Amino acid sequence: MFRQAVFWSVIVLLSGFQPQMTKAQVILGSGVDKSREKLMYFRQISAAESAEPWNYDVTSLRFDLNIDPSIDEISGSVLTAFVLTGDPAPGIRMELSTGFTVDSVLCNGLRVLFVHNGDFDLRIALPAGIQEGEHATAEVFYHGVPPMDAGFGSVGRHLHEGVPAFWTLSEPFGCRDWWPGKNDLTDKADSVDMIVHSPELYRAASNGILVGELVAGGIRTCHWKHRYPVAPYLIAVAVTNYETYSETAIVNGKPVQILNYVYPENKSAAIRQTAVTAELVELFSRFFGPYPFAAEKYGHAQFGWGGGMEHQTMSFMGRFDYEIIAHELAHQWFGDAITLNSWKDVWLNEGFATYLAGMSYEHLFDGYWWPRWKTLAIDYVTSEPGGTVYCPDTANVNRLFDSRLTYYKASLLLHMLRHIMGDEAFYQACRNYLNDPRLRFGYAGTADLKAHLEAVHGSDLSWFFDDWLYGEGYPSWHVKCTALGNYEYVAVLTQRQSHPSVSFFEMPVPVRFKGAKGDTTLIFHHTENGQSWKIQPGFMIDSVFVDPEQWLITKGNSYQIIDDTDAIKIYPNPAGSWLRIELNNTPEKIGLFDVKGRKIDVHYIIDNLGIKFDIEYLASGVYFIEIEISGKKTGSRFVKQ
Ligand SMILES: [Zn+2]
Repeated sequence: MFRQAVFWSVIVLLSGFQPQMTKAQVILGSGVDKSREKLMYFRQISAAESAEPWNYDVTSLRFDLNIDPSIDEISGSVLTAFVLTGDPAPGIRMELSTGFTVDSVLCNGLRVLFVHNGDFDLRIALPAGIQEGEHATAEVFYHGVPPMDAGFGSVGRHLHEGVPAFWTLSEPFGCRDWWPGKNDLTDKADSVDMIVHSPELYRAASNGILVGELVAGGIRTCHWKHRYPVAPYLIAVAVTNYETYSETAIVNGKPVQILNYVYPENKSAAIRQTAVTAELVELFSRFFGPYPFAAEKYGHAQFGWGGGMEHQTMSFMGRFDYEIIAHELAHQWFGDAITLNSWKDVWLNEGFATYLAGMSYEHLFDGYWWPRWKTLAIDYVTSEPGGTVYCPDTANVNRLFDSRLTYYKASLLLHMLRHIMGDEAFYQACRNYLNDPRLRFGYAGTADLKAHLEAVHGSDLSWFFDDWLYGEGYPSWHVKCTALGNYEYVAVLTQRQSHPSVSFFEMPVPVRFKGAKGDTTLIFHHTENGQSWKIQPGFMIDSVFVDPEQWLITKGNSYQIIDDTDAIKIYPNPAGSWLRIELNNTPEKIGLFDVKGRKIDVHYIIDNLGIKFDIEYLASGVYFIEIEISGKKTGSRFVKQ
């Protein structure tokens, strides 16, 4: 809770500096979609994570549910079509909250025995004769009141303008709180039918395409059909008195429908706020390949939960802030089309979604927003010295969806990989990953992404993942510049780490050197402390900035400039009508420049002390004197009062 409080206060501070916005309702940092209400989670997840192996693969699902948002109970059936992949003798196992009553189970249309008892455990006997490798169906008829106290809610209800709304939110382990099935992250159903019967006032929003809507006897039946593989936690339904409207994105010259189900009282505001969605679909399609579910739709359904949830083809939205619209859409590529094969890699989902929302500022907004996003992200990530992006403890939902680590630090890992690889290689590797037939519409983990990045990059990236994904903290750099004369320097980089888990962050470090007569940024491949480089900026350096364009997770950087080569003594400084330089030798060249590096004519006399300049006529400001003696250039700044 404390972390959240710190984070949101950063946003409030920033909002005071926002200039005229170019897009409606931009709130930096608002894209963390699952940071609310998460304390509700119980210890129940351990059952699913440590469960015995499954002996069947799901092929399709057919929900037929009675949902009246004004009452607590839901009822109906879920038919699971599957292929038996193991021994039929013990039957098959499903998970369903023991808050429900199972009325009957049909296997291949025949009534079979079942046992439903503690810890979500539903055991179903198979009829004689079903063999391993065969297709079969199991249809569970059930009714009851969904538990309201698990995960991010699993099932939620509220009143809006006095009208009840019902929704589901199964991530990460909550399917069993509203439907009987195989609650396994890594078994996608190839298709889903969602048939929902509700009082006529209401309509249901769900995955895929609305293939039928019928009102009879005061009951409205909505039939949604989704024909892409879908992980169980991405199947969802929401029911209330929705009003709808559509927008259209153009991807590869073809229209993609963006279908919105919103509360009537929010419709006009939502129309304004979601208008940016088409542009975002087109942007992400350009960088990451066409929207993955283009043959069906993308959409939003409003719900009463504080954040957002990337249900496949129909994100559920508690609010229509810009970043959360971008974030949930981004999940359709990262999370939905390719799903995690373990929650330990949840950084892949939330890191990509957060980063894509960030990079949308880079491409769709004026130049203010992208640097602000990076500043916010880096400040937030470095607000504490440790914490891993990788999440070994999947039983702790707070840790799984930690906004600083799983969202923002993960997003900046991707940003740093882009810096290391270059834009072209980074985006190509992402597209290769998304299009990999072994992964697309299936599952992946960190190793899969890493392999695709390395293939395009041409070399191993373990050093990066070891330090940044599994290690903790961030580096701070010190740059020491020692002048050699002739505007040459030795730059020495040293690094300290905020956390002892990483002994050294090997990184390409951009460093900007600035002076009155020049400005240049160089990249140092920093692999050990005390490493030095001879640099020739061609001007006198007066300031140094580490990571000027914010590619890295770093803070607390410093620099030092040592210039003992300065053979000239200049006074008075600040100067009034005259300025003297003491010299032992007569210079071959003398020049005076303003802060923009423009040469200015100046009167001077050379005497036995050195040079005396007449600067009476100079405007007030900072100037730079450059002299060359025996082929060696040196210089100094002064201020004219
Ligand atoms: Zn997310």
